[in-house]
Amino acid sequence: MRRVLLLAVAAAPGLSACVSLPEDVLRQHLIEAPEPVSAPYAGLDPGAKSVETARFLVRAYDTGTAQAYASFCEDSYTRLAGDLGLYSFAPAAPYNIVVYRDREEYLAKTKQAEWSGGVAYGNAIHVYENEAAKGVIAHEIAHLVFKEFMDGTDISALVWLNEGIAVHAEKAALPASADAYASRVTRLVRPAPLSFTALSSMPPGAAQTGEAVERWYAQAGSLITFMIRAGGNFNFYLFLRKLKDGLPPDSAAGEAFAGSWRDMAAADAAWRASL
Ligand SMILES: [Zn+2]
Repeated sequence: MRRVLLLAVAAAPGLSACVSLPEDVLRQHLIEAPEPVSAPYAGLDPGAKSVETARFLVRAYDTGTAQAYASFCEDSYTRLAGDLGLYSFAPAAPYNIVVYRDREEYLAKTKQAEWSGGVAYGNAIHVYENEAAKGVIAHEIAHLVFKEFMDGTDISALVWLNEGIAVHAEKAALPASADAYASRVTRLVRPAPLSFTALSSMPPGAAQTGEAVERWYAQAGSLITFMIRAGGNFNFYLFLRKLKDGLPPDSAAGEAFAGSWRDMAAADAAWRASL
């Protein structure tokens, strides 16, 4: 059982921290590499198997493992697309999933830090075989889908939305993640929620402690889950469309969730009242 140094995540130059916490005691962390990555990580050894589905190309050391991860990826994608109302969206190319045999091979070939549970670049996700990998994959698929859907739009000010959707996807895919985030909402968010201004303008950085980072992710995920459930999937899709068209979040929310919320402050207030 290792304690994870969150500051080490954010301190890595050029890399943004992305925290995926399926259990309180087993913390899997993910680095989202800056793009483009010109030298992808070393792949699997010769003899590895591939399984291709509608939206994923999964490589692992045996067909059964590749098939199991491919099914999980398809289930995660389908659930996410339904939640976000993305019925007319399809990835331009299959997302690549590489499943290393174990942690040792993953660390040796990706050169990630000891605590890293997965790494993503381009349209690929690299993980190693373990139960928590599913949380990492579900989280990261959401990032790939969000990035591709929003293609051409500056999403640098939408970190709260991008991470909130990814946490929502992770919770929906893995009961252990749902439990862990629910406990963090109870312990850290409910007693002292961040203002929406703070949530949307302060992604976790090197200056923040582990608990502040946990609270930020848990709140982002809780807010997005609430907006999807209370606002409606189709309205959430309209919200994303309007953001993609360049509307600021307040106008996008007011137009997409008309009848429910007039702006993000109203959506945020409704979320607070639901806690
Ligand atoms: Zn993330």
